[in-house]
Amino acid sequence: MTALIIDGKKIATEIREELKGEVFKLKHRGIVPGLGVILVGDDPASKSYVTAKEKACEEIGLFSDDNRLSSRTSQPELMAVIARMNRDPKINGILVQLPLPRHLSESDVLLAIDPEKDVDGFNPTNVGRMVVGEKAFLPCTPHGCIQLLLRSQVKIEGAHVVVVGRSNIVGKPLANMLMQKSPYGNATVTICHTRTPDIGSFTRQADIVIAAAGKPNTITADMIREGAVVIDVGVNRIPDPTKKAGFRLVGDVDFEAVKEKASMITPVPGGVGPMTITMLLYNTVESAKRANALV
Ligand code: NAP
Repeated sequence: MTALIIDGKKIATEIREELKGEVFKLKHRGIVPGLGVILVGDDPASKSYVTAKEKACEEIGLFSDDNRLSSRTSQPELMAVIARMNRDPKINGILVQLPLPRHLSESDVLLAIDPEKDVDGFNPTNVGRMVVGEKAFLPCTPHGCIQLLLRSQVKIEGAHVVVVGRSNIVGKPLANMLMQKSPYGNATVTICHTRTPDIGSFTRQADIVIAAAGKPNTITADMIREGAVVIDVGVNRIPDPTKKAGFRLVGDVDFEAVKEKASMITPVPGGVGPMTITMLLYNTVESAKRANALV
């Protein structure tokens, strides 16, 4: 069997077109959803993520409030910017690009963001709401994985999903979302991590395998059941002198071998990646609708 490739770019474009339509309707009511973006320091990868997020906002008609702060910014200075955005009714979502420079406390920053504007879904209040099944902003990468499955007509309900990785931004929230009694859940979920002996004995039982380990070749063909669906969240740089940048991107899955066994698979790049920013836009539009009592 050769797997159908799940095209994350295409699905992300579809969702962005839907959002553009929603933003257009909101503008007719005088509402322009706004995203407050904070970048501290000049890490090149973070800069390029932030630039991509701002460009995506512009493309669907959102307003973005761009705050690039020096790497010497103190915790109280950063908190003051967040407090200003929390109060500003034009800002519906606040995004603090992580990681922060080491002298700043990430957990204090995430706690300081008003949960009603926490479009990354990292504030513990939102995480708690999501876990108990209340209305919450769903974290973007896990939500992106679920949208890829749903929009590819993969049945999550009743499926056995094995998630490899248990980080706070991907594995844990994803596993929680998949087991919720909700249209995007009702799966039977197993989580594997570095202390799991014989991960293959679990993944071989899975209808859906989601790899979020951050290590190339974590999932090889012998670990996959014939016909399983495979979602690869991993983004890893592999040295490659044939590339101008000197590296290429690969996921956590041995794509070439696994695609001969799976029924569907996401590529890297072009799978989960384009969905993450898209779900951030989705949450920002959702937040603007909530703030105006439209949902
Ligand atoms: P992370 O914080 O480093 O967590 C990795 C998780 O994977 C940990 O729970 C770790 O287990 C587990 N793990 C590592 N190696 C493993 C192995 N060989 N076998 C089984 N489990 C293993 O990473 P993250 O932030 O969740 O990100 C995971 C990957 O997704 C990274 O490549 C990252 O770049 C990518 N990512 C992509 C997007 C996107 O938009 N496409 C967004 C976010 C992240 P322990 O807990 O036991 O250490």
